[in-house]
Amino acid sequence: MIPYGRQEITQEDIDAVVTVLRSDFLTQGPKVPEFERALARYCGAAHGVAANSATSALHMACMALGLGPGDRLWTSPITFVASANCGLYCGATVDFVDIDPDTWNLDPVVLAAKLEAAKEAGTLPKILVAVHFAGQSCDMRAIHALSIEYGFRVVEDASHAVGGRYLGGAVGNCRYSDITVFSFHPVKIVTTVEGGIAMTNDGKLAASMALFRSHGVTRDPAQMERASEGAWYYEQVALGYNYRLTDVQAALGLSQLSRIDHYVARRHYLADRYASLLQGLPVRIQKEHPDAFSAFHLFVIRLRVEGAAWSRRSVFETMREMGVAVNVHYIPVYDQPFFRANGSARNACPIAEDYYAGALTLPLYPALTESEQDQVVEALKAAVS
Ligand SMILES: *Cc1c(COP(=O)(O)O)cnc(C)c1O
Repeated sequence: MIPYGRQEITQEDIDAVVTVLRSDFLTQGPKVPEFERALARYCGAAHGVAANSATSALHMACMALGLGPGDRLWTSPITFVASANCGLYCGATVDFVDIDPDTWNLDPVVLAAKLEAAKEAGTLPKILVAVHFAGQSCDMRAIHALSIEYGFRVVEDASHAVGGRYLGGAVGNCRYSDITVFSFHPVKIVTTVEGGIAMTNDGKLAASMALFRSHGVTRDPAQMERASEGAWYYEQVALGYNYRLTDVQAALGLSQLSRIDHYVARRHYLADRYASLLQGLPVRIQKEHPDAFSAFHLFVIRLRVEGAAWSRRSVFETMREMGVAVNVHYIPVYDQPFFRANGSARNACPIAEDYYAGALTLPLYPALTESEQDQVVEALKAAVS
């Protein structure tokens, strides 16, 4: 079976992990800060706060930005549920902004109209989570301008987009946002097994996220309420969690990071090759916006199912039977039973609904060979013939 995504683990990765396993610190040692500094350098951000998942990093980001009961968080419906759940963890309500029909990212025009209506109704959001779908940055310049006009904070959910670029800078430089989150799950661009990180240029936000990452406990006198009683002394000054990444994982991340540009280049090569192999087939592909250089976490097609003798489901099943593990990203989040039960409206975002009706993710990962890719396209051709 050809999977839709797959990690690559080299001997160098294994050696880096083994070195840490034999060292004094398996966790809370020097590798995590080293990994944080390496990513901050790579992205051009001032700080990185690593976590045990992107989900944890999104939660830390929302806590640091002060999200709480009575507040609102808005995000894209075409994303993984974690982009929305971070708002619910903080007791906020979550709402969704429809996508652009060509890039499939949150649409700033829809956002502007929704903000104007929310301003009238007194229901403006505190945080917008902008999801860089499939690895392509949202229109961050437009989103940033709206954040100033309407006074909300911006978190980039760049779980798909580490290694991507936007307007000449690396995604993660936080030029147009408060915080940017990456995921290092094995299907993403680089992996720490499980893991994530929050990038920011704001030292206060970084310190606050680091506090929430580790029980709300600090050993920094500047964060304490009382005077130190000695070298053993620490204080819990907030309710935090254990969201720490381990040194073993950080070592894997550092080793993987040395190949990130090579991975993204290979993903681009394969994506371009798909684009030409798919010509003449009843599919649309994601529009590449000129401002963005995608990290190509996913290669998604929108099947023209309308009036066809086959369906997305039949194509999915035929391709799986032919050994190609296609996937679907994503079911609109507001349509999940949990969100429906918590008041999300059905069919709230018509463009997202239309996208979802024909969405299919084809395999894309650096080790995918050209002959495997040909096999994927042959299976798709058979499924739509
Ligand atoms: C993978 C993913 C997440 C969650 O990442 P984890 O590291 O698995 O917690 C969040 N948002 C999006 C868009 C993702 O694709």
